[in-house]
Amino acid sequence: MLKLVDKTDLKSVGYCSRVGSSPTSPTMKDEKFNLFGSEWTIQYVDVIPREDDGFCFGLTDYVGRVISIATKDRDGNPLPKSELRLTKGHEMMHAILGTGCYSATNDEPLVEWLGRCITSLLDQKVLK
Ligand SMILES: [Zn+2]
Repeated sequence: MLKLVDKTDLKSVGYCSRVGSSPTSPTMKDEKFNLFGSEWTIQYVDVIPREDDGFCFGLTDYVGRVISIATKDRDGNPLPKSELRLTKGHEMMHAILGTGCYSATNDEPLVEWLGRCITSLLDQKVLK
């Protein structure tokens, strides 16, 4: 089933584009998390629409407190779970920084670095 993000939400969010890898197929339920009283939802969608030609792996809606994660590439092939996990880590960093009012105009390098570090620490079971 094709599930799209409401385009009216796109004005309040940033696009996140990263380089992908090989495909596997996930079917994932929405998830919830709480950041010090701020309730967030993670939704998994087939694609995240953009107005330009770029591909969007994930999207953080700071107003609606919704993280959207694309599960398919631009050709409709499922993205690997490892890619979805990295995207989730990345978008959660946006949520953490945004909830703490630390969002900058171009925080993509910082967010990507933090997301990869947290994911790596979880992989090493330093953080559980
Ligand atoms: Zn981003």
